Amino acid sequence: MATVVTCETCGSTDFDLHDYCSVMVLSSERALFTLKCPKCGTKVTTLSPIPQDMRSGIAAAARKMNAGMGGCETSNR
Ligand SMILES: [Zn+2]
Repeated sequence: MATVVTCETCGSTDFDLHDYCSVMVLSSERALFTLKCPKCGTKVTTLSPIPQDMRSGIAAAARKMNAGMGGCETSNR
C-alpha cells in the first residue's frame, strides 16, 4: 500500500519518499515527509507510512539527533 503523493500545484505524482527534504518521525511506522516537487519545486508535506527499507535509517538518525521522535516537545525552560 504505497502512498500516492500529489503536488497541489502541478498535479505531479512523481514523488519518491526516499528523496525527502525533511522527515519528522511520528511513530515507529509513520512520519511526516516534506518532499519537493521535481516538476515545479513546490514543497509538499505528507503523512505517510515509513517505507520498510527506510525505517532503520530514520530511527537511527532520529536517535542520534535525539529529536524528531514525537510531537510532544519537551521544553527546557
Ligand atoms: Zn509540482
